[in-house]
Amino acid sequence: MAIIAIVVIIPLSSIVVYETNSNQQIASIDNLKLQVISSFNPLHEFSQEIGQEKIDVTLLVPVGVEPHDWEPTIKDVQQMQKSDLIIINGIGFENWVDNLDEKNYQGTIVDTSVGILANNFDEKNTNDSTDPHIWLNPVYAKIQVQNIALAFSNSDPENGKFYHTNAAKYIEKLNLLDSKIRNELSDCNRDFIYFHNAFSYFADEYDLNQHTIIPSNNSHGEVTAKTLENVISTAKKLNIKVIFSEENASTRTSEIIANEIGGKVLILSPLEVVSDGTYISKMTENLENLKEALC
Ligand SMILES: [Zn+2]
Repeated sequence: MAIIAIVVIIPLSSIVVYETNSNQQIASIDNLKLQVISSFNPLHEFSQEIGQEKIDVTLLVPVGVEPHDWEPTIKDVQQMQKSDLIIINGIGFENWVDNLDEKNYQGTIVDTSVGILANNFDEKNTNDSTDPHIWLNPVYAKIQVQNIALAFSNSDPENGKFYHTNAAKYIEKLNLLDSKIRNELSDCNRDFIYFHNAFSYFADEYDLNQHTIIPSNNSHGEVTAKTLENVISTAKKLNIKVIFSEENASTRTSEIIANEIGGKVLILSPLEVVSDGTYISKMTENLENLKEALC
């Protein structure tokens, strides 16, 4: 009996040891890279530009889904719990974040809005009327990029220089975009009509006036007959001939208004839903459409 037991036990235990070693090996290979989760598309792209092959970054809001009303599934939350960093826009855009806090998340939540509205903004005062669309102002996007680079290098100091160098290169591109927008819109009309309240920070930066069809910051807001009437009268008063719509929203409301004023509909992307373009290419398209409407 003793001999049989030895014969059986030895192979079994050697298998167990072997499996344990290989699991540990896989785990340590994974841990070499920062495990990053980005809440929505522009932040995903910024994270990739900065982290490149040194990080694994997962986009939370699925392709084709608009992030304003999105809520994570249980599976998403489980994946978030395992990550080192979660990159969020902040300003109440990710209303599920408080929930995650309560579940004792061990990693770091990176609020990329830090330093942008520093003097007059307090996270505790966030409500539906606080405009989250900072990424649509390239000047603010640069700060978001810097915040991500800082968070990566704090979590992975060994590659800190790599992250900061990549951020600096990307910020160069954002600087070019910023001066292009500033120069090319400088001699044009200032008033434009957009669907939801997404381009306020952009408009402030480039001295434009945004009028919106729906008063809400959320692209799912309701269009009432009264707001429709107001928009049409604004368009007539300011001699506006283009109504801007978003790529993923229905253009029907915008078309009704455009017909009423004898104008047309053009697209202005809020970059909220994943598309083929990059931040730079989509913002450049936005600029071209704004020029068509205003210049
Ligand atoms: Zn929006």
